[in-house]
Amino acid sequence: MNKTKIIATIGPGCDSKDALQKLVDSGVACFRINLSHGSNDNKKKYFDLIKSLTLGEGDRPTILADLAGPKIRIEQLKAPFKVKKGDLVEITNEKPGERSISVSRGVRFRKLNPGARILIDDGRITLEVKKIITDNTILCVALETGEINSKKGVNFPGIELDVPALTEQDKKDLAMSLKSGADWIALSFVRSHRDYKIISEKIKEMGYSTPVIAKVEKWEAVENAQEIIKTFDAVMVARGDLGVELPLERVPTIQKSVIKIANDLGKPVIIATQILDSMINRTTPTRAEVSDIANAIIDGADSLMVTGETAVGKHPQKVIKVLKRVIEETELSVIKKQTNESTQKKISTAKAISHAACTVARVQKIDILVTMTHSGSTARMVARHRPNTRIIAMTPFKETSRRLNLVWGVEPVVVSSYSSSDEIPGIVISMLEKMNIYEKGKKFIVTGGVPVGLPGTTNYLSVLGFN
Ligand code: PGA
Ligand code: MN
Repeated sequence: MNKTKIIATIGPGCDSKDALQKLVDSGVACFRINLSHGSNDNKKKYFDLIKSLTLGEGDRPTILADLAGPKIRIEQLKAPFKVKKGDLVEITNEKPGERSISVSRGVRFRKLNPGARILIDDGRITLEVKKIITDNTILCVALETGEINSKKGVNFPGIELDVPALTEQDKKDLAMSLKSGADWIALSFVRSHRDYKIISEKIKEMGYSTPVIAKVEKWEAVENAQEIIKTFDAVMVARGDLGVELPLERVPTIQKSVIKIANDLGKPVIIATQILDSMINRTTPTRAEVSDIANAIIDGADSLMVTGETAVGKHPQKVIKVLKRVIEETELSVIKKQTNESTQKKISTAKAISHAACTVARVQKIDILVTMTHSGSTARMVARHRPNTRIIAMTPFKETSRRLNLVWGVEPVVVSSYSSSDEIPGIVISMLEKMNIYEKGKKFIVTGGVPVGLPGTTNYLSVLGFN
């Protein structure tokens, strides 16, 4: 069993029930729907397809709905056109012209200065700003020869842009996603922890409590990483845009520091993009890709997310199989290292109890650790220590169990609801029996929060079984 979770992006490369079920059977716990692309009908179809799949005992895979956010793109062009090094080109968000690049509405170019660089299509073409004509139109010179195509991304590295955190399209996609069963929402191009309030209030207004992942892919997000990770429910290192917004060579160290912050806070962290990029066309990965996967796991990633590999790739199932093999092999040889909380100044009860649970497991050689959780918090707190045990998260809520599919090592199962801690041993034992892992007399650990149902209180630790 892989402890590091696999997220796959759905797309034309795997859009039949049969193909998707094969991916689940090969190790996918969660599908990501990239809401930047496709028609509304097509997006809805993806939700329905995922809901028709089965994962484990009568559940379906988790759905991660990924909002485009304020990504600036080239609008639909009449026809692609070539620019040559030295050519003058206009970027505008007003009028589409013959040889001007019209970009997403709502951007104001107020804070741009001549000399600033603008990157098109993941940095394939660089433009330099020559002149600000109006707030809506700028004149640039091409620094490279290349082709300008519709819908490609436009990045403004180092430039603070005047765009909303949630676009009109995002609001529509969000409403549709919540109605269609999204378990997680991801927000692209997060810049500040304040973006969380904007989106979570919208979610609440719509009558949901779905958690939100911050995609770290802008320079502002890197600068504000600590606050963002503290505020959002989870974080993703979105290496695609990150490598355009910032110098590519900074991506590995940013990845490491985001993972560290997230692990310390007990927030799930996802590493995304170009995980097995070469397998979009080929049947085997490069050594560098395999090494990158192993390093992300060693650093402490909860989940790895493939994008084009499954969405448009030629070998989606092979990709998942390779990924699973590399994860399993790496996990076997990773040295288990528990964080020593006692060196930190102030420790919450939740942190102390979850740490204690892992310590008890280690010194008593107990290999089953059950977390009784309503919000999922107890399971996350335990998982951040990467214990060398199974972590079985028992929750009365299907929603919580699906959300936990992104968390390292956690095996979520739904149990009947309980209202007092006296009921816990009975519920745990009967579920372990059902899972065929109960052995009479064998010790196991149970941790959780009492009184039952109060979220975020991990204060209960018990060792059950005798020898
Ligand atoms: P995207 O996010 O595929 O939505 O751009 C992932 C990334 O930028 O790495
Ligand atoms: Mn991105």
